[in-house]
Amino acid sequence: MTCEHCNQDMTKSHSSCTLDYVKISGKYHKRNTQYHDVNEICHDCGILNGGVHHYGCDMERCPVCKGQMFCCECDVTAFSTPRFKSEEARVRWEKKQ
Ligand SMILES: [Zn+2]
Ligand SMILES: [Zn+2]
Ligand SMILES: [Zn+2]
Repeated sequence: MTCEHCNQDMTKSHSSCTLDYVKISGKYHKRNTQYHDVNEICHDCGILNGGVHHYGCDMERCPVCKGQMFCCECDVTAFSTPRFKSEEARVRWEKKQ
């Protein structure tokens, strides 16, 4: 199965989703990586624990309502991997959100 956002094959790669921010109701939020499987590898999307789940995984929690990401009521409009020149620039950008 391929993640429709990062185009990686979830069943083979064990690598995290490369899109680590999600836009909900016009604001970007860092995707939740705190919640994961009891096993080393996510039963649903195949990532190693601590990484970003692929979209649609039933383990991913929404950063806004803390509900299950794939079925919560929030207005998810986009995924993104913003890149910054420095850590400082990233912090500034996050504050602005
Ligand atoms: Zn993905
Ligand atoms: Zn997962
Ligand atoms: Zn939500």
